[in-house]
Amino acid sequence: MNLQNELLSVIKDVPDFPKKGVIFKDINPLFKDPQLMKKVTAQMAEFAKLTNIQHIVGIESRGFFFGMPLALELNLPFIAARKKGKLPGEVVSESYALEYGTDSIEIQKNSLLKGQRYLIVDDIIATGGTANAAAKIIQNSGGIVSGFTFLIELTFLNGCETLLKTTPHVQIQSL
Ligand code: AMP
Repeated sequence: MNLQNELLSVIKDVPDFPKKGVIFKDINPLFKDPQLMKKVTAQMAEFAKLTNIQHIVGIESRGFFFGMPLALELNLPFIAARKKGKLPGEVVSESYALEYGTDSIEIQKNSLLKGQRYLIVDDIIATGGTANAAAKIIQNSGGIVSGFTFLIELTFLNGCETLLKTTPHVQIQSL
């Protein structure tokens, strides 16, 4: 079985969670399969090497599950993009639209270095709002977003189009 089919066989669709109308992708079964997690990390690492990155940015919270092993595999620094109010010290924030209202994510200012190349990691890209906000933080601070990697892309929501508006020509991987 190829990796995509292996992932499809373990990731479960949960209808009407956390609210009616949403089909939630439950990726927890993947975490119980270390061999499969290693394959996921290896594929992400292969892509990351092509984009020549210097820092891995994981998006809270499920982006951490993939970003940290990837950073260790590549021997690169890991940076957490966290929900508002979780990071101490000076932070750079960016808000993004939710179905109702807005939310925001933050990165510590001292992690954002001008001219350095960053890869943004999350479990799922849906509308692209969250990953796009992370990209804006990096870009507005003088960093370069070289790539995005996701386990799952909900293609019908066209999230990648949003990313390409902020960071044209960026490379995007979804497994
Ligand atoms: P978005 O900003 O719309 O691209 O949403 C991405 C974030 O929402 C990711 O961090 C995901 O963890 C979460 N997410 C969005 N849609 C789903 C879904 N169908 N199942 C599980 N998580 C989701």
